[in-house]
Amino acid sequence: MTRLSNDGFFALGTVRDNRTNHAPLMNIKEMKKKPRGTSDFRFDMNNSILAVRWNDNAVVTLLSNFLSHTPMVRAKRYDRKQRKMVTIEQPYLVNEYNHLMGGVDLFDNAMNNYRIRIRGKKWYWPLITNAFDAAMVNAWKLHCFCRKYDKKPPMSQYEFRVEVCESIMIKSSYHHPGRTSASGAQLAMRYDRMDHFIGKLNTRHRCPQCGGKTEYGCLKCQVNLHPAPCFLDYHNGVEPDKKKIAKAK
Ligand SMILES: [Zn+2]
Ligand SMILES: [Zn+2]
Repeated sequence: MTRLSNDGFFALGTVRDNRTNHAPLMNIKEMKKKPRGTSDFRFDMNNSILAVRWNDNAVVTLLSNFLSHTPMVRAKRYDRKQRKMVTIEQPYLVNEYNHLMGGVDLFDNAMNNYRIRIRGKKWYWPLITNAFDAAMVNAWKLHCFCRKYDKKPPMSQYEFRVEVCESIMIKSSYHHPGRTSASGAQLAMRYDRMDHFIGKLNTRHRCPQCGGKTEYGCLKCQVNLHPAPCFLDYHNGVEPDKKKIAKAK
């Protein structure tokens, strides 16, 4: 804990009862006799480390170099003797531990579900694939967050990964013969903000934003677009002007 503080890391974790370096906390046997929600704490002034022992179903001991045991939080538990829900006092850092731990667990789980399985011989290979996996999970989490905001169901991590791979492959092959209806991957490419340049296309088609005909368009998307404002609007996801399109037709 001291080493972590010195290196500038905030830490919080459970600790085995025999690894507290004899912190003078309430004895475990003694604490078990006390009512549920009882807690005891000691603060190491020299090293700024807090040790907390708390009686939930079992007695747990935690250490932290940045959190406090206050304010006490109320936790709901089922009391077998009284046969009803009761509120017990919970130190702040225990509450925070449960909260943050959930995030770490879920993240590890999401990583393990679809880990890159290509083996490499170099020692640093797992570091590289791990970085990609972490980036992928984080991106997927952002996707889920955005979908929630839009009140739409999110993609599964599998679907998300497939789409990322597809749009990268399309980007490298660059051309797609014929313009059929946009696939998910094409849509992802439309908003990827990479290498979209305006130029003269070989065709003269209607611009999907305003309905007017033009021979200019996006060279990557292969969609006819007016240089302004249609080109920007199209890549920013601005709704097409339906009235204008109806008039143009
Ligand atoms: Zn236009
Ligand atoms: Zn484009």
